[in-house]
Amino acid sequence: MQDWNLPWEGGCRCGAVRLRVSAPPLLTMACHCTGCQRMTASAFSLSAAIPSEGFAVTQGEPVVGGLHGAESHHFFCPRCMSWLFTRNEGMDWFVNLRVTMLDDPAWFEPFIETWTSEKLPWATTSAVHTFEALPAPDAFPGLLAAFATRTALPRP
Ligand SMILES: [Zn+2]
Ligand SMILES: [Zn+2]
Repeated sequence: MQDWNLPWEGGCRCGAVRLRVSAPPLLTMACHCTGCQRMTASAFSLSAAIPSEGFAVTQGEPVVGGLHGAESHHFFCPRCMSWLFTRNEGMDWFVNLRVTMLDDPAWFEPFIETWTSEKLPWATTSAVHTFEALPAPDAFPGLLAAFATRTALPRP
């Protein structure tokens, strides 16, 4: 039995939005795509897929930003504009939380990395599985099962 030391608290840069995670992540990721490079102002985004029932905004009202697209809804703090989490249309059973919003993200390791075809040449991560774009849909059950047996966990 893995102890994830839930719940986790988190929030944006200015503190107007606060978040709570009460369910273990399904998968952890780094994404090297150029969209994530722009939205993070950095080399890659870091995220944890959290079951929707285990994710709550406890303070503030995040607003949609980013692409304002029909497929991915990127949520930001309305005051400091930090990118907080993403919901994907048709996949409302999980939320992709930007893990650096957690008050203690030190435990985090990306289990997979995506879109290495677009990565900055020097950018490397410790991800166990690497994909030039996204994993094929039929790869996810195996990835989730493998992630569930991993050992990096938050400290008590
Ligand atoms: Zn804020
Ligand atoms: Zn990306």
